[in-house]
Amino acid sequence: MIYGARVRQARELRGLTQTGTAQGAGLTQGRIAQIELTSSVDIGDDHLERLAQTLKVPAAFLQRPPIEDLAEGSMQFRARKSLPAGVLRRARREAEIAREIARHMLSQLQAPSLRVPDLRGIDDIEEAAQLTRSALGLPPHGPIPRVLHTLERSGVIVIALETWVDGKLDAFSTWDGPELDLPLVSIGEGAPWDRIRFTSSHELGHLVLHRAPGGDLNAMEKEADHFASEFLFPREDAEKEFTKTVTLSRLAPLKLKWGMSIASLIFRAFEVGAIDQKQKTSLQVQLGARGWRKQEPGADAREPERPRALRKMMELLYGDPIDIRQLAEAFPLYTAELNRIVGRYADAPSWQAHKTTPPPAESPSAGVLVQFRARA
Ligand SMILES: [Zn+2]
Repeated sequence: MIYGARVRQARELRGLTQTGTAQGAGLTQGRIAQIELTSSVDIGDDHLERLAQTLKVPAAFLQRPPIEDLAEGSMQFRARKSLPAGVLRRARREAEIAREIARHMLSQLQAPSLRVPDLRGIDDIEEAAQLTRSALGLPPHGPIPRVLHTLERSGVIVIALETWVDGKLDAFSTWDGPELDLPLVSIGEGAPWDRIRFTSSHELGHLVLHRAPGGDLNAMEKEADHFASEFLFPREDAEKEFTKTVTLSRLAPLKLKWGMSIASLIFRAFEVGAIDQKQKTSLQVQLGARGWRKQEPGADAREPERPRALRKMMELLYGDPIDIRQLAEAFPLYTAELNRIVGRYADAPSWQAHKTTPPPAESPSAGVLVQFRARA
C-alpha cells in the first residue's frame, strides 16, 4: 500500500513530471495522476519497485503515512519574482522533508521554549523589531553575533536547503505544526554570509508580523526588510555610526561590524535620515561603478552562518557521529541522501570554531548553546 501524497511529494522533490515518472515506473501519466489523488492504493510489488526507483526513494518512503503539506508561508510573497514553479515546489518539498524529520525528533526531545513574539497588527515596524530583540534575549543595541543561532535558541527550526537560486530564492518561512506553533525558516545554502544574516532576519520579520498572509504582498516585503534593518542595526546605533558624511569607504568597516551588506547599509542610512534620496542614489551608482553590486568587498570576511539545531537533535538521538542507518530506520530515505542533508548543518567542531571567528561586541547570547533535552 502506498500513499498518493507521498508519490506527489517525492516526484516534486525530484523535479519530475507525471509523464516522466510514469515512463520510469511503467505506468501511464493518467495512472500517476490518479495515484497522487488517492489517499492510499496498492499498485503491486513490481510497479512499486520501479516507481520507488524512479523517484529515488526507498519503497518504505511511499508506504509511510503522510502528514499535512507544508504551508506556503512567505514563499508566496516572493512568488512573483519569476521563479519557475518547479523550483518553488522543489524547495518546498525539500523543506517539508526536513520539517518532518525535525518534528519526529522534537516528539522525543524537549526543545528550547518558543520566544518568537506575535506582533500582528503593530504599526511601528522598528518598535516590532525592538520588541523582538527583547523577546529573543538580545540587548536593544549592538550587533547580533549570529542570527541563525539566535533564531534556533528561540525555538525556530532553521532548515538548510540545497535548492537555492541566487537573488530569487534565498529563504522562506512559515508557521508549522498542528497548532501552527512551530516556526520554520528555510535557507538556501550558498548565499553570501551577509545575505544569510539579512534574509533570515527578514524571514523572522514575516514570522513576527505576518502570521496569516493576505493583503498587499509588496507592502509586506518592505515591512520585512525594514524589520531586518532595525533588528540587525537599531536606529540609535545607526544614528551614532552615521554622524560623518556617508561614503563607501566609511561603509566598508561598518559592514564587518554590523554584519550587513554595504548595499543594505546605504539603505539603512537613508532610512534613519543620515542621507537624502540624492545621496542614496549617488552611493548606489558608485557601488555599481566599482563592481560591488556583483561582489562587495569583505565577501570572505566571515564564514556563512549555518544552522546547527537539526543536526544537534540527530546527534542526541542517533549518536555522534550520527548513525545514519538508524536515522534511515526512523525516516526512510537512502543513506546517501540523509548524509547530504546532515552535511548542510554545522557539526559541533565547526560550530565552536565559528563561535570564535570575528567580532562583534559581546552579547549575552554569544556563548549559549542550543539546548535540547530528552523528554522526561
Ligand atoms: Zn519576504
